[in-house]
Amino acid sequence: MDSPSFSFELFPPRTPESAAKLPAVIRQLAAVRPNYFSVTHGACGSGQDGTYETILSVVEHAGIEAVPHLTCVGSTRANIAAHLDRYREAGVKRIVALRGDLPATAMSAAAPGEFHYANELVTFIRETHGGYFTIEVAAYPEMHPQAPNPSADFDNFRRKVEAGADGALTQLFYNADVYFDFMDRCAKAGIGIPVVPGIMPITGYANAVRFCTGCGADLPRWIRLRLEELQNDKAALFEFGLGVVTRLCETLLRNGAPGLHFYTINQAEATMRLWKNLALSVSA
Ligand SMILES: Cc1cc2nc3c(=O)[nH]c(=O)nc-3n(C[C@H](O)[C@H](O)[C@H](O)COP(=O)(O)OP(=O)(O)OC[C@H]3O[C@@H](n4cnc5c(N)ncnc54)[C@H](O)[C@@H]3O)c2cc1C
Repeated sequence: MDSPSFSFELFPPRTPESAAKLPAVIRQLAAVRPNYFSVTHGACGSGQDGTYETILSVVEHAGIEAVPHLTCVGSTRANIAAHLDRYREAGVKRIVALRGDLPATAMSAAAPGEFHYANELVTFIRETHGGYFTIEVAAYPEMHPQAPNPSADFDNFRRKVEAGADGALTQLFYNADVYFDFMDRCAKAGIGIPVVPGIMPITGYANAVRFCTGCGADLPRWIRLRLEELQNDKAALFEFGLGVVTRLCETLLRNGAPGLHFYTINQAEATMRLWKNLALSVSA
């Protein structure tokens, strides 16, 4: 088995203050030498240029592989082709290929523009760049919120694999069994690409509820109740969240997860504490 992959996700800073803080965050996170940093990409225009700038910042401050997310909702082939060329020129070798969230006004599940679903984007990248890019796609162990049922959503995941995805990163979840169930379904379907769990540290009651509601992930009742009770004691809530997420990561790694992808939300502390708790090594 390949050695596990550990990656840290960033988003392009939205204010001058957060832009000023980002280099220090990247330096702190880079100290443990993750396999790569990925940078999100706003769907439908928001923050799209920020992805490229943040990628350059990662390269400058960390010297670690920088991986852009690329969303295709509302986009044209020409526009996606230009993004791919620019990334290739900047030395990017891996892409997280996504549809992106639909605009709130969307009338149908298919995205507007020349690409409707992420499998079409994967096909386009393969058609235009062959095997040059390593392509990661999104996986939803608890089902994508717009899918009609789990089997249809799984079939759609399979389309992305068949189109040429090399690996997948999951949506956040707090119940390890949903990941193992998803991996069982992959094994039965003959899907062997690495599916790396997406890990969201818990740092607050309101944001944990909001993140889970937004992406359709189950926040187990006992965790929600404990967070609600601790919401006015920031330090105690932080320690409780660390304990919950450390145990989740331990369970996943002990049972064969091929790595972890941390949603850092541009903050180093929670991810670094998890890293320490998990006693993950610092690669050379
Ligand atoms: C690891 C990770 C990173 C992310 N990064 C970003 C980011 O940087 N920017 C951002 O805006 N969002 C990001 N997202 C959120 C993501 O864009 C949304 O979840 C979006 O709604 C779906 O994107 P997708 O690539 O999974 O879409 P798809 O795989 O295209 O799936 C979208 C929906 O359509 C259905 N579907 C898929 N293919 C077909 C088909 N061929 N026919 C019919 N139905 C189909 C699926 O079942 C699903 O319900 C990320 C999510 C994850 C898990």
